[in-house]
Amino acid sequence: MHCPFCGAHDTRVTDSRLVADGDQVRRRRQCAACHERFTTYETAELIMPRVVKSDGSREMFDERKLRAGMLRALEKRPVSAEATEAAIERIRQVLRARGDREINALDIGEFVMQALKTLDQVAYIRFASVYRKFQDLDEFRAEIDRLSQEPQEEENTSGKAPRGTP
Ligand SMILES: [Zn+2]
Repeated sequence: MHCPFCGAHDTRVTDSRLVADGDQVRRRRQCAACHERFTTYETAELIMPRVVKSDGSREMFDERKLRAGMLRALEKRPVSAEATEAAIERIRQVLRARGDREINALDIGEFVMQALKTLDQVAYIRFASVYRKFQDLDEFRAEIDRLSQEPQEEENTSGKAPRGTP
């Protein structure tokens, strides 16, 4: 790190501590040449890609939209808020891990469908029917048939509310 005052290459760290609940490292540095002190902050780069819509326009990734779409599909379904949030977090991680500057809205839709598929098949069908805009009833039925032929994932009953609980 060059000294911002004199440009010397030799600066040393005099203090280093975690700030912002551990999301940031604050470092006090001192220039070996001019002895000026300065502070640097280090954070992980967690930039979400921009979303490219089907008409070619771009917009910032909006987690609220993602959540709203998933919650609409999951309405009145027996899926906990915790499981839903975990699925949203997984999608965020996937998007970040790609490291791309941009991502197609269609690709995000696919991630959401995969997430819903494991959470709740009714929610998945709801979302897919809107998202994929099934051309006709046959196509819709074919997707449901395909689903019912897939081997069911093992049910995880732990942590679920007992039947009859509001
Ligand atoms: Zn200096």
